[in-house]
Amino acid sequence: MTTYKIALLDGDGIGPEIMAEAVKILKLVEARNDVSFDLVHTPFGASAWFDTGSSYPDESKAVTDAADAILKGPIGLSHEESKKIPVDEQPERGALLPMRRRYNTYANFRPVYLPKGLVHFSPLKPEIIGEGIDIMMIRELVGGLYFGHKETGINEDGRRYVKETLEYDEDQIKRIMKVAFTTAMKRKKVLHNIHKSNVLKSSVLWNEVMEEVHADYPEVEVINILVDAAATYLCLNPGMFDTMVMENMFGDILSDQAGGILGSLGLMPSACIGDKKAYYEPSHGSAPDIAGKNIANPYSMIGSVAMMLDMSFGLEDESKNVWNAMQSVFSEGFSTPDLSKEGAGVKMISTSEFGDKVALALKNT
Ligand code: NAD
Repeated sequence: MTTYKIALLDGDGIGPEIMAEAVKILKLVEARNDVSFDLVHTPFGASAWFDTGSSYPDESKAVTDAADAILKGPIGLSHEESKKIPVDEQPERGALLPMRRRYNTYANFRPVYLPKGLVHFSPLKPEIIGEGIDIMMIRELVGGLYFGHKETGINEDGRRYVKETLEYDEDQIKRIMKVAFTTAMKRKKVLHNIHKSNVLKSSVLWNEVMEEVHADYPEVEVINILVDAAATYLCLNPGMFDTMVMENMFGDILSDQAGGILGSLGLMPSACIGDKKAYYEPSHGSAPDIAGKNIANPYSMIGSVAMMLDMSFGLEDESKNVWNAMQSVFSEGFSTPDLSKEGAGVKMISTSEFGDKVALALKNT
């Protein structure tokens, strides 16, 4: 039997609630397969800062270093609460970006999926959404504006200024393009390359390198599209996209928009893959507005488990079973409150009930 060590970073806000549902599923997967999971909870995010004075304490670094994979809940506080933490220690700057840098998790996979039977969850009209939505967004995760040189100070005129630079080198672009083309080859062999080369020089280099890598994948059709236009088309015609590749900040924003067209960010899991380490997390934040109410949608967290089973542990069939189990809960007419309003003809369920139902469906698989 293979044992995998999994670092569990519960995070903040709804993090612990949705992590509890992910653990339910991991324990069930363990019971059904010739595999064992050594689950180690460790502090990360704002709660870690209040408890230990660091958003990513050394003890947590030791746990994530030793882990075969990391499962991370969302981190962060409301805008007002965040001010209680020094700027450089606030969870994204103090924990999330350092972890991405530490493990060089450059390839972020964000599936945007809503099958035909569930299109009523989307705010888009049926004639727009058609047969449903099935997009794989691939976001470069350790470069660009979020990781470039940052500087603040007082300029010669005595005014406060800030400078943040958007940096990429050709190797960083090449490796994410290889991931994107490989993914496109496994899907519909169409790659939408998202850029802003009419304004940003970084996009000019991005596109040059994309074309060089494209030469190795001649079967893939590339469609170049400006990021602002892509935002519009995601609303007007999401069915035109299959695989999309984009730099870090474009991906941050467009993938949240993708959560919007599905109906909720709660439907957005993700995988963050480096050459030696991977971590898995919902794409969304800690949802402080609904934390502690047992109403968050744990799909994003359980979907992240499904991605981990497949991408880190090679349990492809079980991963599919988890996806199917989640879809079956929706198909039976159940919904968490983020996706439906009372009176919409659905049976409203809580975070923990959703997890229980997924577990039951998985048991019956
Ligand atoms: P958010 O993603 O937390 O929430 C936006 C909206 O989506 C809210 O209405 C929220 O209730 C809803 N939502 C999100 N996830 C949901 C789920 N699983 N089920 C049901 N509804 C869900 O964005 P925000 O409010 O702008 O940010 C809150 C905090 O999260 C901030 O501190 C931000 O910095 C942080 N954040 C962290 C990550 C991360 O950990 N990777 C990502 C984004 C934002």
